[in-house]
Amino acid sequence: MTHRARKPYIAGNWKMNLDRSKCLDMVKTIKGRLGDGNDREVGVFAPSIYLADVTAVAQGSPLGVGGQNIWYEDSGAFTGELAARMLREIGADRVLIGHSERRHLFHEPDEWMGRKVRCALNHDLLPIYCVGETIEERRGNRTERVIKRQLEAGFEGVRAEDSHRFTVAYEPVWAIGTGETATTEQAAHVHKMIRKWILQRLGDEAAQSLRVIYGGSVKPDNAKELMSVEDIDGLLVGGASLQADTFIPIIEYDAR
Ligand code: PEP
Repeated sequence: MTHRARKPYIAGNWKMNLDRSKCLDMVKTIKGRLGDGNDREVGVFAPSIYLADVTAVAQGSPLGVGGQNIWYEDSGAFTGELAARMLREIGADRVLIGHSERRHLFHEPDEWMGRKVRCALNHDLLPIYCVGETIEERRGNRTERVIKRQLEAGFEGVRAEDSHRFTVAYEPVWAIGTGETATTEQAAHVHKMIRKWILQRLGDEAAQSLRVIYGGSVKPDNAKELMSVEDIDGLLVGGASLQADTFIPIIEYDAR
């Protein structure tokens, strides 16, 4: 199976940006450009307060809509948190887990990751599990060690049969929101290492079907080059996903 046998996945992480009407406008614009969605998968990760409205507008199109985080219990005294079943209830079909801002600003530990991933899968949400090293870890030659540790944590409850519903995002922390993108060589090296790790963990079939996408200052002018790298199966886009004139060209990157 070549990497293009895996459907390209372009995801927009809106973080704590946009207002309700801008979110809905973006969804309408993206929806209008998607066609049947057969050749690529597109998802947007909207602020949770707008998710019910966003999923209502996206309905009937192949556009996926997701939350940016979940807690791994179904209910209880967890002030400020959202359960996977709540995302499902309002029509979301996917979720980000372990985004670097959750890990670094909100101190989410590795120990939560496997439970969150398993919980999402158990509730029929499609998780994107984010991993990535800081600049200090890269400079200290610890990139592989850090990413393998994060993979160990997130894959704790993942089975080979989950591989078509589970996505890993490699997002070097130093490239997120900084304008600095990993070179294709840097990204290729880490993506290859991640695929090898998955192969050893879940076997060949799962390693061939599980998508590993790249995130970190993706822009219209670097999307095509990144997508030409073997083992990069899609893009997780932050800043450039906030406006149609930068996100649409990324979604419509020329795959030839
Ligand atoms: C992200 O938030 O996942 C991200 C990659 O952000 P940006 O594209 O702005 O670097």
